[in-house]
Amino acid sequence: MFDYKIIRATGQKYYFSGKDPRLLITSGIHGDEFEIIPALEKLLQKYQSRLPGFLFIPEASPSALAAGRRKNSRGLDLNRCFSAKPKEPEAVEIVRLLKPYKFPLFVSFHEDATQRDFYFYEYDHRRISPDKINQLGADLRTLGINLWEGIDDPHDPDLNNPVYNGYCYPRLKKNDVSLEGWVFQSKKAGKVILPEIPGLIPKYQKAKVADLVFRRLILDF
Ligand SMILES: [Zn+2]
Repeated sequence: MFDYKIIRATGQKYYFSGKDPRLLITSGIHGDEFEIIPALEKLLQKYQSRLPGFLFIPEASPSALAAGRRKNSRGLDLNRCFSAKPKEPEAVEIVRLLKPYKFPLFVSFHEDATQRDFYFYEYDHRRISPDKINQLGADLRTLGINLWEGIDDPHDPDLNNPVYNGYCYPRLKKNDVSLEGWVFQSKKAGKVILPEIPGLIPKYQKAKVADLVFRRLILDF
C-alpha cells in the first residue's frame, strides 16, 4: 500500500510518486464507484517505474464512499462542485492540493453502473488516435467486453453526449463544474481522460479493464 498523506478536515488521502508530478489520477468521486479503487492502487504500483511522477487521489469523496452513494454526506454530487473557489469542503481540499501543479495528463476513473461495455471521454478532441482506440477495443474483446456506442445519459442535461466506438468528446459548458471539466478548462491539465469502467462486470474484470486503460492510454502518453 502507498504511504498516503491524509487531509484531516475531509479524510481525503493522496500519494505523490516523485517530486514533479506529471500525471494526476483520481477515483472515488462518486461513492457507488468504489470497486475499481484497490485495482488502481495495484496498477500504479505495477507500472510505477514506467510512469512519470504522479499524484493519486483514490477517494476523492470519502463521505460519498462511506455512504456507498453517488452523493456525498452533504447531499451533493461532488463532481458538480468544482470551480476556482469552490464551497464544498471535499472540493476545496482537492482544488488546494492541485494548486501548485500543472499535469500533462489527468485520468479520472469512474464506473458506469448501467454498463457491461466500455467507453471513455477525452476532453481535448482526438489527441488519442482511432488506431489506439481500436487496439484497446481488440484487447477488450478478449475479455468479452466491447467498445460501447450510444448516448451516455439521455436524462442528464449536463451529459447527453454521443459515444462512438467507445469514444466520447463531451460538450462542456462554460465554467464546467465537474472535476474533469474544471481541471481542463482552467488548464491544470493538458489532457483529460475519463474512463467509464463497466459497472456490471465482476470486480476482477474491472481490474483487467483498468490494466488495459493503463497500457493503451496512459503508459505511452
Ligand atoms: Zn462517476
